[in-house]
Amino acid sequence: MVDYQVLVNKNNSLGKDYVPDNLVEIHEPAGVKMDSNYVNKLDKFVYQEFKDMQSDALLCNYEIFVDSSYRSFDYQQKLFNDIVSKKGLKYALRYCALPGSSEHQTGLAFDVIVRRDGILISDVSEMDSELIWLMDNSYKYGFILRYPKGKEKITGYNFEPWHFRYVGRDIALEMHDSGITTLEEYIINKDIKRFRL
Ligand SMILES: [Zn+2]
Repeated sequence: MVDYQVLVNKNNSLGKDYVPDNLVEIHEPAGVKMDSNYVNKLDKFVYQEFKDMQSDALLCNYEIFVDSSYRSFDYQQKLFNDIVSKKGLKYALRYCALPGSSEHQTGLAFDVIVRRDGILISDVSEMDSELIWLMDNSYKYGFILRYPKGKEKITGYNFEPWHFRYVGRDIALEMHDSGITTLEEYIINKDIKRFRL
């Protein structure tokens, strides 16, 4: 049973050996992927929810794709090390999760990429209409924008308009309707004790 409420952040890490059991590979249309050596994978059910959201977005002419999804502990270690060597430790700690503390290891999170007029836009911003649509509608499919603007102190991460996380339709709706924008605040509010806050 997958725990769609799992909190993974700087205080709640996954072990080196944690690998989700229901991962499925994502096969995007040709030319969509930025890194051809990387195979996108998500939790099987989460991918179905994503596909639902993706096809509804397409009805509004918004083309969204998964750019980066499941990452193993080792892969995250490599990413982290690469950023440290290019930009230094301070920068890496701010912009890149330490291995074990990345939500990408859960198989429940993904970074989005957008295609417009046949051109891929990897560096999406909150001003992009596709992202505005996602921020307004993703809760209907069980997703939350995981690192919202103004909540950096709570999530421990800078605003990331491209990073979405599956929490389940009920919780996403509850968060949307009550105005709770971070998983950390949801967990405090619900008094869920199994995480370190
Ligand atoms: Zn991400």
